[in-house]
Amino acid sequence: MIRTNRAPSPSRREFLAAAAAAPLGPAALAALATAAPNPGMTVRTRVGTGPISIASGNGLRACTRAVELLKQGADPADAIVQGVAIIENDPEDQSVGLGGLPNEEGVVQLDASVMYGPTHKAGAVAAIENIKNPAAVALLVLRRTNHVLLVGAGALKFARLHGFQEENLLTEKSRKAWLKWKENLSPRDDWLDDEQRDPTVGKAADPLAAVTPMHTTGTVHCSALTAGGDLASCTSTSGLSWKIPGRVGDSPIIGAGNYCDNAVGAGGCTGRGESCIVNCAAFSIVSKMESGMEPTDACVAVAKRIAAHTLEIRRRAKDGRPDFDVSLYALRKDGAYGGACLFPGGTFAVHDGTAGRTLPCTPLFEKN
Ligand code: ASP
Repeated sequence: MIRTNRAPSPSRREFLAAAAAAPLGPAALAALATAAPNPGMTVRTRVGTGPISIASGNGLRACTRAVELLKQGADPADAIVQGVAIIENDPEDQSVGLGGLPNEEGVVQLDASVMYGPTHKAGAVAAIENIKNPAAVALLVLRRTNHVLLVGAGALKFARLHGFQEENLLTEKSRKAWLKWKENLSPRDDWLDDEQRDPTVGKAADPLAAVTPMHTTGTVHCSALTAGGDLASCTSTSGLSWKIPGRVGDSPIIGAGNYCDNAVGAGGCTGRGESCIVNCAAFSIVSKMESGMEPTDACVAVAKRIAAHTLEIRRRAKDGRPDFDVSLYALRKDGAYGGACLFPGGTFAVHDGTAGRTLPCTPLFEKN
C-alpha cells in the first residue's frame, strides 16, 4: 500500500516556521538533534514484499533495471550494480562514472560501495581512476576478497586483474567545466577565462573580492528488496567536484553513504559526504528503522542530526542552517520506503514492481 502526501501536522509546521524565521545558534542546532520525531511527517509506505528498488533522484533507470532483473531471478547485488552501471555509463550524468566531474587537478577519481544483506558483507573502492564502473569493482571486492575497501592504485590494479579495461573518463563537457572552475578561482592568478583574456574588457581586479569555489555534488544510490525478502544496497559517485586529489567521500564508507541490514532495511545518502561520514548517516537511517521509525521519519531524523551537528560557522548560512544539502534514502524490509533532504528540491526514484516514478524527498527545512 502506498500512502502519500499526508499534510504536515501543526507541530511540524511550527518547527519549519521557527527554523526559517530565527537564526539557529549551536544550542538551537543541538536541540534539533534531540527533538522528538514528528508523527505527522509525510510518509510513503508500501508494506509487502519485493521486488522493489529505490534510488537517488537520478536513478530511475537504475531501479527500473534492478526490478526487471529481480523479476528474472537475479541476485539483488547483481541487479542493483547493473542498474547503477546505466548511470555510470551515461556521459551526461556528471556525478558518477564516465563523465563524472574531476578533482582539482582535472583527474576523475571514483568511489563506490555495495552491501549485501544475506551475508552482511560489503565491498568498496575509493579514489579509483580510469574504470567507469566502480560499483562492479566494489562487488568483486565483496565477493572475491576478505577485505571491504581497496583504494587508489591498489583498487585499479585489482580491477585490471579482474579484466576491467582502463579508459579516459574525462569527457569534453566535464573537462570544460573543470577549466572554467580553474580559470575563475582567482582574478589574480595566471589562468584567464573568456572575459579575462581580453585586456580591454572586464572589471579591475579586486584582490579582496570573495571567489565562490562552485563545488557541486552528485551520486547515484540504489537499493533493492527481493520477493524473498533479501536486501542489497549500492552507492557510486565521482564525489565532490574539484576535490583535493585522494579525497574520499561517504559513498564507499560503509555506514556513511551506504548500509544495509537484511533483518531491517537499507539506507543511503547523497550530498555533502563529509557530513554523512561524521554522522554515520546510512547506518543511522537503518538503526532508526530498527527502533520502529517509518522510513521517511528515519531519514528526516538523520537530516535533523546532520543539521544539528553542523557547528562550523564556515558551513552555515547566515540563518544558522547548513550551507549544503544532503539527501537520505530508506528501504525497509517490509517494502516501505522514503526519502528526506535538508532543503526542498531533492527527489528519489522508486520502482515498486509495477511502475517506476520519481518522488520528492521530505525536506527538513521549508526554504533554501
Ligand atoms: N556524497 C558524495 C560525496 O561526498 C557526493 C554527492 O553525493 O553529491 O562524495
